[in-house]
Amino acid sequence: MTTVLISGASIAGPALAYWLNRQGVTTTIVERAPELRTGGQAIDLRGAGREVARRMGIEDAVRAAGTGEKGIEFVDATGKVKGAFAADDFADGNGPTAELEILRGDLARILVDTVADDTEFLFGDSIAEIDDDGDQVHVVFASGIRRSFDFVVISEGMRSRTRRLVFDDADAIRSLGMYTSYFTIPRTETDTDWAAWCSLPGSRSLFLRPDSHGTRRAAFSFMTDEQGFDDLDTSGQKKLLRQRFSDVGWEFPRVLDGMDDADDFYFEGLGQVKLPNWSKGRVVLVGDSAYCASPISGMGTSLSLVGAYVLAGELTGGDGRFARYEATMRPYVDEAQKLPPGAPRIANPKSRLGVRLFNGVIAIASSGLVRTLASRFTSPPAEKFTLPDHPHNVPARPQLGT
Ligand SMILES: Cc1cc2nc3c(=O)[nH]c(=O)nc-3n(C[C@H](O)[C@H](O)[C@H](O)COP(=O)(O)OP(=O)(O)OC[C@H]3O[C@@H](n4cnc5c(N)ncnc54)[C@H](O)[C@@H]3O)c2cc1C
Repeated sequence: MTTVLISGASIAGPALAYWLNRQGVTTTIVERAPELRTGGQAIDLRGAGREVARRMGIEDAVRAAGTGEKGIEFVDATGKVKGAFAADDFADGNGPTAELEILRGDLARILVDTVADDTEFLFGDSIAEIDDDGDQVHVVFASGIRRSFDFVVISEGMRSRTRRLVFDDADAIRSLGMYTSYFTIPRTETDTDWAAWCSLPGSRSLFLRPDSHGTRRAAFSFMTDEQGFDDLDTSGQKKLLRQRFSDVGWEFPRVLDGMDDADDFYFEGLGQVKLPNWSKGRVVLVGDSAYCASPISGMGTSLSLVGAYVLAGELTGGDGRFARYEATMRPYVDEAQKLPPGAPRIANPKSRLGVRLFNGVIAIASSGLVRTLASRFTSPPAEKFTLPDHPHNVPARPQLGT
């Protein structure tokens, strides 16, 4: 019986466990957090990612948990709408609001529930030492427990620590010069099911989105050349955002107050992961740890689901398994890592004039005449991949809840 340790219980990890379990592989997932992390905003499932969800039998559950976002309004610093894109303006959900929008935490929950009966979960632990002897990978967890597995898969996100124990990853993260924070705030009577994007001078922005939990999701972002804000503690990061956004009216005071009370606050410097190899011996990377394309790409979740599917199809396939996984995924990843022209600067202009120009372009782009053209620039390249048919691609289990 092949045994696989997967490190990281978010999107890529549990999705991989699902496909491995179906081949009779014994899977264990270790997650550093004491319980499943449910924070984050809505993420899109598009193209091949949506197809993997369908093959896993979770598409109905994902649809049922959808945020119901009706579209995106671009507003100025007083809340005046400058342009809007409705979700149903675009064929097949290919506009800025995808057909399948689900909170990251809800998707992680669905994935974990799907494998809970067949996968061993170790929450509140992590790999402290790892040794690949060519036949097995021996790990020592932070808790002191020692275990051995046939393979170890790292799905710990962009800033994976275990990756550092195995790979030379000093230059792996390419910063996009931007920080983003995600958190949940109370919903008020004036909130609608539309998302609102507000660009501000100083390369700052606020993104507010509806959710399916009776609350609202907020994201502050700012661009800067300064490094190291990831290393601040949560209260330091909240203080930094209060300093950077306290000069604005409209919804900003309410969002700042909500941020102070939020217990799911998540802050990160955005970047992309570029590595020459995604495997070493019997250890392999999947998801953001291998090839993060950044939230700006709109492809993180789709890449994770597709990567998990492809890796599972190769892992049990003998020699050359990881080379085949990489050869299949690389072109899709390369495409996904090409960000829309000018991103992320274009939506985060430096000057007041730049913000006015951006809002002017949005007003034109959202008019009926050029909307279809605009969708070519706003739609990620999710369709540019045909899922290989692996032996594990047998018809999915019945849909959850049926
Ligand atoms: C809390 C959170 C909120 C997010 N919010 C958004 C969002 O709003 N929009 C967006 O586009 N993307 C968001 N992301 C990123 C998004 O989930 C990923 O881009 C994408 O889905 C790829 O997922 P992944 O499974 O590869 O990695 P991630 O989603 O980054 O998950 C990595 C997992 O590994 C765990 N982990 C980290 N280090 C270790 C370790 N040493 N040992 C064990 N476990 C470890 C983490 O706790 C996490 O659960 C968020 C990620 C997290 C963790």
